[in-house]
Amino acid sequence: MKMLLNGEWVDRGDKIEIRDPFDDSLVDMVPRANEGDVNIAFKAADKGYREGKSMTVFDRAQILNKTAAIVSDNLEDFAVLIAREASKTIREARKEVSRCVNTLTVSAEESKRILGETIPFDSFPGGEQRRGYYYRFPIGVILAITPFNDPLNLVAHKLGPAIAAGNSVVLKPATVTPLSALKLAEAFLEAGLPPQMLQVVTGIGSEIGDSLVRSEIPRMISFTGGVEAGKRIASLAGIKKMGMELGSDSPVIVWKDADIDWAVESCVSGAFWAAGQNCIGVQRLYVHKEIYKVFRNKFVARTDKYKIGDKLQEDTDMGPMITEMEAQRVEEWIQEAVKRGAVVLTGGKRKGALVEPTVLEEVPKGARLHCEEVFGPTVNLYMVDNLDRAVDKANSLPFGLHAAIFTRDVNVAFKAAYGLDCGGVMINESTDYRLDSMPFGGVKYSGLGREGIKFSLQEMTEPKVVCFYIK
Ligand code: NAP
Repeated sequence: MKMLLNGEWVDRGDKIEIRDPFDDSLVDMVPRANEGDVNIAFKAADKGYREGKSMTVFDRAQILNKTAAIVSDNLEDFAVLIAREASKTIREARKEVSRCVNTLTVSAEESKRILGETIPFDSFPGGEQRRGYYYRFPIGVILAITPFNDPLNLVAHKLGPAIAAGNSVVLKPATVTPLSALKLAEAFLEAGLPPQMLQVVTGIGSEIGDSLVRSEIPRMISFTGGVEAGKRIASLAGIKKMGMELGSDSPVIVWKDADIDWAVESCVSGAFWAAGQNCIGVQRLYVHKEIYKVFRNKFVARTDKYKIGDKLQEDTDMGPMITEMEAQRVEEWIQEAVKRGAVVLTGGKRKGALVEPTVLEEVPKGARLHCEEVFGPTVNLYMVDNLDRAVDKANSLPFGLHAAIFTRDVNVAFKAAYGLDCGGVMINESTDYRLDSMPFGGVKYSGLGREGIKFSLQEMTEPKVVCFYIK
C-alpha cells in the first residue's frame, strides 16, 4: 500500500515490509517515509486545516457516518487485515472493527454537540454594556501517533474526533501495523473527506519521530503508545497541547465474597486478550486468601483450555505476540522472575512469536513482571487478606489506567473505587473493559488527558470568546 500525502497515494523506493507475526509471511509493503515526506505532510495539513474549519458540521458528520458505513460494509476485509498484520485472532479483530464503526458513528453524533455558552459579562461592574458568548473552534493541525495493538480503532479514536471538530491530521501509525490505518484513510477519502485534511505518513518512529514532533505546524500531539516514547515526545514537543494515552500493569482485586467462576472467566479473558498486548490487560491479581486456592486452580484450569496458534482459525483463542523479538523479551522476563523465586503455574514457554498463556505466583517485587508493564500473555497471582493493603498494593506502581474489584459487598466496592488511583475502576469485571464513548485515560505514567470521543473533542478544540460592546 502507499502512503497518503497531499491528496495523493505516494510510494518511495525505500520500503517497510509488513509481516504476519504468526508465520512471518509477507502481507504487504509500505513506503519508508523520510523527513522530506514529513514536511510535505505538514504543509498539506496546514491547508487542510483551513478547509476543515470552514466545513459545516452537517458535512463533517456526513463524512464520518459514510466512513462508518464503508467500514461496516467491509467488516470482514478489515478484520482479516488486522488479523494478518497484527496479533489479534479473527474473532478479536472483528470486535475491533465493530468498535471502530461505533467510534466513527459517535464522532459524527458528537460533532453536533460541540457547544459554547453565553457569558454573563454584566456579573462584574463595568460589564453592563457587554454581551457575548464563547464557542469552541478546532485547534489546528493534529499530529496523531498510534500503537500496534489496536491498529484500527485507536486510529479511529484520533481521526474521528479530530475530523468531527474540523481539524486536519497528520497520522503516523505503528511501523508494524500501518495497513489498517491506510485502509481506514481510503474509506475517509471515499466518504468525501477533503484529502488535505488527512495525511498518513508510514515511517519509523526512531527515524522520523523527532522531526514530526518538533515541527511547529501541529498545535497538538495526540499520542498513544509506551512511556519511553511518550517521554521522548514530551521532551521535544515544545509549546503544543499534548494528549498521552500510555501503558499500565492493571491490578484486579478478587475479594472473598466474589463470584469465583465469573471472576475467573473475566480475568482469563482480560489477561490474554490480544496475547496480553492490551493497555488495560490484567497483569496483577490480588486474591483473598480464603478463596485463593480455589480461584488459582480454576484460573489455571481455564487458562489450560486456551487454544493458541493460527489467528485466522475461528477456534483460536490467542495469537502470537507482535514480533518474535517481543516474545523473546517476555520469555526473558518470565525466566528472570523464576530466578528470583516466582513459580510458573502454567505456560511459560515460547515458540517463535507465540508465548503460552502464563500464570505465575510468588513473583517478587523486584521482578520486571511485577513492576513494569509486561504487554504480553502473563499474569501474576498474589494472596491478600486486608482490603486497605490490597488497595495499597494495587496502587504501589507508577501506573494507573484501569483497576478492578470482584465483590458482592457494595461497601467493599465503594471503598475500592475511591481508593484505587486510576482513570477507571471496573466492579465485578476485569480491567479489560472500555466503552469507546466513555472518558478513557490514566493517572501517573499512564497518561495525560482523556480520550473517548466527547472528551477528545474537548482536548481537540479551544474556546473563543466573542464579546459585543453595546452603546
Ligand atoms: P511504542 O513503541 O511507544 O510506539 C507507539 C507509536 O509511537 C508508534 O507509532 C511508534 O512508531 C511511535 N514512536 C516510537 N518512538 C517515537 C518517537 N521517538 N517519536 C515519535 N513517535 C515514536 O508503543 P507500541 O509498542 O506500539 O504500543 C504499546 C504501548 O502502547 C504499550 O505501552 C501500551 O500500554 C500502550 N497503549 C496505550 C493505550 C492507551 O489508550 N492508554 C492503548 C494502546 C496501547 P514505530 O512503530 O515506528 O516505533
